[in-house]
Amino acid sequence: MQNNSKRSYDSVLTIATSDSGGGAGVQADLKTISALGCYGMSAFAALTAQNTQEVRAIHEVPPQFLKDQIDVVIEDFEVDAVKIGMLFTGPLMEVVADRIKKHDLKNIVLDPVMVAQSGAQLIQDEAIEVIREELFPLVDLITPNIPEAKRLLGRDINGDESMKQAAQNLLETGTGGVLLKGGHFEEDESIDYLSIASKDPELHQFNAKRIETNNTHGTGCTLSSAIAAYLAKGYPMPKAVEQAKLYITQAISAGSQYNMGGGSGPLHH
Ligand code: PLP
Repeated sequence: MQNNSKRSYDSVLTIATSDSGGGAGVQADLKTISALGCYGMSAFAALTAQNTQEVRAIHEVPPQFLKDQIDVVIEDFEVDAVKIGMLFTGPLMEVVADRIKKHDLKNIVLDPVMVAQSGAQLIQDEAIEVIREELFPLVDLITPNIPEAKRLLGRDINGDESMKQAAQNLLETGTGGVLLKGGHFEEDESIDYLSIASKDPELHQFNAKRIETNNTHGTGCTLSSAIAAYLAKGYPMPKAVEQAKLYITQAISAGSQYNMGGGSGPLHH
């Protein structure tokens, strides 16, 4: 039966990995996208056997199967924004780069996931070059935290001026924007810098009060999918980041008193 009803949903496709514990990865993405009133779709790069304390195993999908998932969704749905999370291997990243070009995807936010809070490595060493070379130039925003930015730049970042400089330097990878997240500094406030590539490069600063809690598993996934959801709704980048920061602060705060698992617990969406 033909459906002639009007389109009502802004939609986000997440291309990322499953967290069986439900706190991070595709599960966090879909909860966030739904909470913000958008329709969420997913293409899985890998599955993790994971809880709040450990990543016990990682099982990647064959690259052709990731391609099929992306293609079949895009052939049938409109995709207003894309969130890219843990892709794990170079060949899976190459598939995503190829599909972005083929389908001319827009409003893409990439979280360069590297290491879990539990300490597990979530990207293969040889894939770091691939993500930087093949994917960064195709996306509108990358959202590294301080350890990821250090790894990408190959130098230390210590303090405010050095963060601003790092946010600018990461634009040289060809990405449309950089949100450098300062949450890993143990300060009272968490400060993020957003640099946007343009003729007159813009630098925006976002401050949020630090919330004392161990329940921060999935914060990176949640923030990047919230930004993608606001881009899907048509917000300009600085406004999308500002609103996504409000969402993540509220989700951390709402989950801060829960006792879920023995490690770093999840947020409340
Ligand atoms: N597991 C998966 C599948 C993820 O995508 C991520 C982060 O993006 C993590 C785990 C790590 O989450 P966290 O560092 O918040 O524990």
